Amino acid sequence: MKCRKLLVKGKAKSVYSTDEKDKLIIEFRDDITAFDGGKKDVLKNKGNYNAEVSAFFFEYLKENGIKTHFFTMLDSHHMVVKKLTMIPLEVIVRNIAAGSLVRNYPFREGAPLTPPLIVIDYKDDARHDPMLNDEIIFALKLVTPADLKKIKKMALEVNRLLGSLLSAQGIALVDFKMEFGRQGKTIYLGDEISMDSMRLWDKKTGESLDKDVYRFEKGDVMATYNRVLNRIIRREKNC
Ligand code: C5P
Repeated sequence: MKCRKLLVKGKAKSVYSTDEKDKLIIEFRDDITAFDGGKKDVLKNKGNYNAEVSAFFFEYLKENGIKTHFFTMLDSHHMVVKKLTMIPLEVIVRNIAAGSLVRNYPFREGAPLTPPLIVIDYKDDARHDPMLNDEIIFALKLVTPADLKKIKKMALEVNRLLGSLLSAQGIALVDFKMEFGRQGKTIYLGDEISMDSMRLWDKKTGESLDKDVYRFEKGDVMATYNRVLNRIIRREKNC
């Protein structure tokens, strides 16, 4: 299978059509950005890391009954996926207060959120991804009430599955972002799930193991991503 036409070039990924009308190829590039693209760099092999961890999570989620867009990897940074009509929502599940939740509301950083909070933003860079509520979602006809219920249920199930996988490796899933799309009436988990879209803390040391290392210059982000891969995929002991 080969990339045919570039359909979308995002901040860190490009999406191509293929010779099969039902399938797309996502290229995970080495670009890394933060703060709405205000900070950017190109880091060698970063695309490979995100692709590998996303593929690993998608396989695991599929095995556990979650419908995802993932088919297979073509090589280290090209993923073959089901073609979906994407829903412009960023669905964030939060287990521990951090990030914008702490900046915008009087939560204490590190406070457990039980049950987890679902926060949904409108995916629109020009508007800086504003937070939505159910009424705005329905008024904009982004999804029906029945579909929103399905999306929230899937989001919580993905959170439960990833949370327990990561916890077994000594990593707390603080929060993460998902994007969904549909083919026909069926809703699938799309996009990527990687250290770029998650907040992960080492359970023992509280150290950041995600893009916050890049955002806030806490250290060498590529070394951190490599360590996360070793821990969750290669099951190495805390290294
Ligand atoms: O910045 P904030 O605290 O709202 O982010 C919550 C979670 O969603 C973080 O894990 C962050 O990496 C992820 N996120 C993302 N893409 C965005 C916004 C947030 O992956 N556009």
